[in-house]
Amino acid sequence: MDIQTNLKQVLAGLPVGVRLVAVSKFHPAEAIREAYEAGQRIFGESREQELSEKRKELPDDIEWHFIGHLQTNKVKYIAPYIALIHAADSYKLLAEINKQAAKHNRVIPCLLEIHIAQEESKYGFTPESCRAMLEEGKWKRLDHVRIAGIMGMATNTGDEAQIEQEFHTLKALFDEWKQAFFADRPGFKEISMGMSHDYPIAVRAGSTMVRVGSKIFGDRVYTTNN
Ligand SMILES: *Cc1c(COP(=O)(O)O)cnc(C)c1O
Repeated sequence: MDIQTNLKQVLAGLPVGVRLVAVSKFHPAEAIREAYEAGQRIFGESREQELSEKRKELPDDIEWHFIGHLQTNKVKYIAPYIALIHAADSYKLLAEINKQAAKHNRVIPCLLEIHIAQEESKYGFTPESCRAMLEEGKWKRLDHVRIAGIMGMATNTGDEAQIEQEFHTLKALFDEWKQAFFADRPGFKEISMGMSHDYPIAVRAGSTMVRVGSKIFGDRVYTTNN
C-alpha cells in the first residue's frame, strides 16, 4: 500500500477546480508526512485531540480542515488555526465559532452540514431547518464566521442512482441558497461532497471539494465508534 501512488491516482481523477481534502483521521503523523511530501497540503481530521497532537509533529503550512461533528466545547482549541470547518450544524455552533474566532482576530470559514442521506443521523441541518436559519438572518451578524458553502454525505449504499440523486439535491440547495441569501457574498462557493467510494459521482454532480480517506491511506483502525 503506497500512499503517494494512491494520492496521485485520486488527484489525477479530479477536474481543475475540485480540491482534495486528504482525510487522515486514525492514521499516524508519518502517513500524513508521506502525503505532504508528495505535495498534498489539505488534511481533514474529525477529532480535536487527535488533530492537536498530530499538528505538533507536522509542518506549519498544512491547511487543517475539521470534517467531523464539532462539539461547542472543543471550538476554542481549534479556533487559532483551523482553515475550514466542514460540519457546522446549528446556529449555536456558528455563534460559538464566531466568539472564539474573534479572540484570535480571525474569520473562520464554515460549511453548513445538510443531512441528505436516508440513514438516521443526529447531526446536520435538515434542508428545511437550514433554510429557516438562513431566512432568520442572525448569521449575518457573525462577523468572525464566513459561511463558505455546504457539506453533505450520501447514503452508504451500492445504489449509485440514489447517491447521485442525493448529491443533486445538495447541489440544488446550494444553487437556491446562493441566489436567495448569498448573491452579494462571493465567499459562498463550496460544495463539500464525495468520499472514497462515491467521489466520482459527487464530482459529476458539482462537488468543489472531496473528502477522501481510505482510498489514500488505506483502512482505518477504529478505536471508537467514530
Ligand atoms: C471519515 C470521513 C470521510 C472519509 O471517508 P473515506 O470513506 O475513508 O474516504 C469523509 N468525510 C467525513 C465527514 C468523514 O468522517
